[in-house]
Amino acid sequence: MAQQEDLLKKIIAHAKEYGFVFQSSEIYDGLSAVYDYAQNGTELKKNIRDYWWKAMVQMHENIVGIDSAIFMHPTVWKASGHVDAFADPMIDNKDSKKRYRADVLVEDFLAKIEAKINKEVTKAAKRFGDSFDEKQFKETNPRVLANVEKMDGIKNRLYPAMDNNNMAAIKELIEDLGIACPMSGSRNWTDVRQFNLMFSTQMGAMAEGASEIFLRPETAQGIFVNYLNVQKTGRMKIPFGIAQTGKAFRNEIVARQFIFRMREFEQMEMQFFVRPGEEMKWYEYWKEQRIKWHTSLGIPAEKFRFHDHEKLAHYANAAADIEFEFPMGFKELEGIHSRTDFDLNAHEKYSGKKLRYHDPETNKSYVPYVVETSIGLDRMFLAIMSNAYTEEELEGGNSRIVMKLPPVLAPYKVAVFPLTKKDGLPEKAREIMDSLKMDYMCFYEEKDAIGKRYRRHDAIGTPYCVTVDHQTLEDNTVTIRERDSMQQERVKIEEVSGIIAKRLKG
Ligand code: ATP
Repeated sequence: MAQQEDLLKKIIAHAKEYGFVFQSSEIYDGLSAVYDYAQNGTELKKNIRDYWWKAMVQMHENIVGIDSAIFMHPTVWKASGHVDAFADPMIDNKDSKKRYRADVLVEDFLAKIEAKINKEVTKAAKRFGDSFDEKQFKETNPRVLANVEKMDGIKNRLYPAMDNNNMAAIKELIEDLGIACPMSGSRNWTDVRQFNLMFSTQMGAMAEGASEIFLRPETAQGIFVNYLNVQKTGRMKIPFGIAQTGKAFRNEIVARQFIFRMREFEQMEMQFFVRPGEEMKWYEYWKEQRIKWHTSLGIPAEKFRFHDHEKLAHYANAAADIEFEFPMGFKELEGIHSRTDFDLNAHEKYSGKKLRYHDPETNKSYVPYVVETSIGLDRMFLAIMSNAYTEEELEGGNSRIVMKLPPVLAPYKVAVFPLTKKDGLPEKAREIMDSLKMDYMCFYEEKDAIGKRYRRHDAIGTPYCVTVDHQTLEDNTVTIRERDSMQQERVKIEEVSGIIAKRLKG
């Protein structure tokens, strides 16, 4: 674990040193849980967003994209349930003065019991070898059974307490379990209080008439309130989807772990409108599609897992997270939710406008059901960074840090270097650069020894470096160096574009 946390620290340092992510307002000592994307990070983030958009919108004839405003009519958030229910229970430790999410303290306690169960299973699997039957072991081993019962007992108290907003019951549970503050070790807790995560501000002049509005905590509602406009103007037939990427804001109680949990972040969401009764089929479909999208980036499948929700949000009849193995362990990267007709029904009720769809096939009108896929762009960025970050020992006692980014996401696709600054090499390199830059993000660099320039581009994940030398002037060939293998090949200048294109497609 310590090693993994070390990895997060290294990624944060690397992200800063190589122009991926800076702390917001750093010269003023930063603003908690707010970050700025730097020159390379912005390209990487844009490429992740484009890759998602391509897979969701461009590759699906029945999905279109919109870009709705961050500010929305305040009643939207009343209808969606956010005003009343988008809150987390918080608790403070009086000794350490540290603030926690009360439910997370209990969830962490549950995770510890689960770890004990898993340890028993691993031990037994070793002992029994090939004849080990995990299912049978879990159903019969007394220690495992006792721990499962303990977990069930805790869940049976936590989930109803959360559903009923029973803060006193959550406090009692924390006390009964003897949960101590991880910082101070003390059990000196305040009461549990509900804390709404929406940021609010005033629209209009400060005098009367100014109204309180919210910064959207999710992009989804912008899709719901536009659903009928899009359906009609796009002549969309169910099933169809509406996609959107954009900023969302949450006043998170505990915001740590770099860009994993931010107060201003970006979401990539798609709401898929389906016939009532067909939502489970589409829910399964999107679960499969989304995991395929992740593995299509070449990230090993074992770094992902599904986590089916036992406790469902008020709007959902099925929900699963795609979890990724971040340096901090497996954590939510994306949510796939079957949201039923909850949102559209609520907007019908609050707006007084009909949001029905007339199905030409069945000749019936209904409020569509919705299956949502929702991924945090910043979390995806962190997933990509932590998977790509590699320290390599090289021959001759050297080492390098290389970001093995999927080439399609890399900030720059190719760097062009003249071997020296004279003899017409820079001019030739510029010529090559000019022929490529309409199609690819290219980087031109002539300073420092060639080895140093290679290292700098390894560190930002540039898949190819092209070097122009004296032979280039004679026969129009260059060396092209591949980032991961460090193999160099002599190729004709006109082949370079094709080599990059092939790799990007792969
Ligand atoms: P969590 O349980 O981690 O708070 P959530 O279940 O509230 O997340 P959703 O409301 O389902 O998250 O939001 C969809 C996606 O938006 C999440 O899967 C995550 O990738 C991203 N996301 C949510 N909150 C944040 C945040 N504070 N910072 C960065 N990304 C976030």
